[in-house]
Amino acid sequence: MVAGAGMAGLAAAAEARRLGAAPVVFEKLDRAGGSMRLSSGVIWRHRDFRRFRAECPGGDPELQRLLFERLDADLRWLESLGAPVTARDTGNPLTSGVRFDPEGLTEALIGAAGGGAGVRLASPLHELPDGLPVILATGGFAANAALVREHVTVEADHLLLRAAPGSTGDGLRLGLAAGARTGPGLDEVYARAMPAPPARVEPGDFVRLAQLYARHAEVTNERGEPHRNATWSEIDTAQWMARQPRARAWFRVPRAALGERVRDRTVGEMVDAAEAAGAPVRREAEHVTVETVAGITTTLGGLRIDRAARAAPGVFACGADAGGLATGGYASGLAAALVFGRMAARAALGKSP
Ligand SMILES: Cc1cc2nc3c(=O)[nH]c(=O)nc-3n(C[C@H](O)[C@H](O)[C@H](O)COP(=O)(O)OP(=O)(O)OC[C@H]3O[C@@H](n4cnc5c(N)ncnc54)[C@H](O)[C@@H]3O)c2cc1C
Repeated sequence: MVAGAGMAGLAAAAEARRLGAAPVVFEKLDRAGGSMRLSSGVIWRHRDFRRFRAECPGGDPELQRLLFERLDADLRWLESLGAPVTARDTGNPLTSGVRFDPEGLTEALIGAAGGGAGVRLASPLHELPDGLPVILATGGFAANAALVREHVTVEADHLLLRAAPGSTGDGLRLGLAAGARTGPGLDEVYARAMPAPPARVEPGDFVRLAQLYARHAEVTNERGEPHRNATWSEIDTAQWMARQPRARAWFRVPRAALGERVRDRTVGEMVDAAEAAGAPVRREAEHVTVETVAGITTTLGGLRIDRAARAAPGVFACGADAGGLATGGYASGLAAALVFGRMAARAALGKSP
């Protein structure tokens, strides 16, 4: 039995079917795919394990090693299911991976998980079944403002939810009730700076409207206090923003930097997109300033798991329900969900994970 039809849950169910089992996936929403379906679809790892450790120092080295060593084979498996590849590199020299079309990726996984017979939509799992192994893959607790306030930031109500709405912490609750413990980094989130209100940001705009140029900007909070971005992923800026008054930051960019490229867009294009969406943008002779809000994308902490993705007897956790992978920094949430989803399925069926 699997809770959650996102990346981790569908990967687990597809792997279980490959092994001859007939798992049932319970999905809370009336649509499968979770945040995977809204994502950029880039499934990646660091090229160098030491760099992974250095960037995510609070994570469990053994779990990180498993992710690092298994991802490439798991990406080939995804392709073998018919998931459509749109790029064979990440555009980042520090990382390797594959970019999939998120819609096609979701459909391929649903098919491999048994289609309509295997995935029950609009069926939340509320309690653990007796005597059956269960895989918790509910995507963390980004969509639960009370839990985010308790564990992450008092500014929780001001965060923009940049994720699918079903991930309200059910896996965490069910796992703890079964005797599991939490892992490291329960207070950490992955977020992106997004256009601030009155901008309108629909789920289909989550990728397009991300403001990923803190590295080129003077970043301040509403009291004028500065923050200097220090990472390529801008995770430190995002974590900082989530804790600032009203989760707001102002990105002041020299006009000379508007032509700088960050991945496939220029800074100027990202600013224009924020302005067109309705965010407050101030254009001066030498600078452009954009008001942004932290858009919580996924929680990074969760249940503590062992090398078999086990959180408690008969209870497995994967994806954003499991902590200990990206702690202290940022690593691909899709990659962790894929690798540990498959491992959880093997372990739940009594096979070597
Ligand atoms: C805009 C955006 C861009 C992103 N880009 C990338 C990227 O390029 N690369 C990357 O690695 N990561 C990216 N991510 C993060 C990535 O999508 C997540 O890390 C990943 O989807 C986590 O997988 P998961 O299975 O844990 O959660 P999800 O894929 O979100 O699936 C969880 C599912 O569980 C369901 N659920 C919740 N509670 C219950 C319950 N009680 N019973 C049944 N079902 C339940 C939810 O409705 C949801 O469908 C992005 C995310 C977003 C939102």
